[in-house]
Amino acid sequence: MTGETRLAGVIGSPVRHSLSPTIVNAAFAASGLDWTYLAFEVAPGHGAEAVTAMRALGLGGLNVTMPHKAAAAGAVDRLTPVADALGAVNCVAWEGDLLVGHNTDGNGFLEALRQDQGVDPAGTRCAILGAGGAGRAVAWALGHAGAAEVVVINRSPAPAKLAAELAGEAGRVGVPTDAAAAELVVNATPLGMGADDPFPLDPELLRSEQTVVDLIYHPATTPWLRAADAAGATAINGLGMLIHQAALGFEQWVGQAAPIGPMREAALVELNRRSEFDATPGRGAT
Ligand code: NAP
Repeated sequence: MTGETRLAGVIGSPVRHSLSPTIVNAAFAASGLDWTYLAFEVAPGHGAEAVTAMRALGLGGLNVTMPHKAAAAGAVDRLTPVADALGAVNCVAWEGDLLVGHNTDGNGFLEALRQDQGVDPAGTRCAILGAGGAGRAVAWALGHAGAAEVVVINRSPAPAKLAAELAGEAGRVGVPTDAAAAELVVNATPLGMGADDPFPLDPELLRSEQTVVDLIYHPATTPWLRAADAAGATAINGLGMLIHQAALGFEQWVGQAAPIGPMREAALVELNRRSEFDATPGRGAT
């Protein structure tokens, strides 16, 4: 590194587990860019200050993760329409002297489907389990990608309604059995991250014609995704979304296409390392 090196990073709390430094530094290296990327542990309540620090320090780009996505939305100069609709920013980029707040989760989800799987959700019936930050981003994305129907299924009714509204005319609140009629089923709950978690949806409702996405990427295969695979469905984990949302941010910062292959490769190496660590007796991650 020299005095010319540009710095980007991610703010969050907790943030030490973030895969973003691995993925984005791989992108900088593969692109031959003199940039580096760090994780900044920023305590809850200090997200807006961290965005202000981006201005003062002239950081080249910033990713934002929990719990700062809403605070970042209030601290930038302008929001993209999707960040505005979601009230959440996961990426900040410069546009001239202005800081623009983006949300690349939904489009990252779509790019993972289209580029990695050759699946276009336009005209399809979709079901989303969960209506938190990820569920809302996916609902917005599917609605804007021309899905015929976006059914949001969530244990709490109010967030489900909000997420369904983000999908526009295609959106509605549904019940678990509605997922049986969907061509695309997305788990946007954290159920499956814990070893003893119940399924987010009864696998009996899954069919071989469906594309089933679990937004979880660690573990790489959740029991529910295995059940989807056993039902003959096309089963996809959340790594593609993670890579593509990072790629969209990278492109905003450096103005060139992201090297998806090296980013994915670096993520897989790091995830394998973590899985081996988790499996080491007495050292398992909690
Ligand atoms: P969040 O904002 O906390 O939302 C969690 C959602 O799951 C809520 O709708 C919640 O329902 C529901 N939920 C939580 N526990 C539940 C339970 N025991 N039973 C039924 N429903 C439950 O979380 P998030 O940020 O949306 O993340 C959700 C998942 O997506 C996580 O696994 C996260 O790692 C993953 N994710 C992946 C990516 C990626 O790039 N692949 C990106 C973002 C998130 P209520 O509304 O009823 O509380």
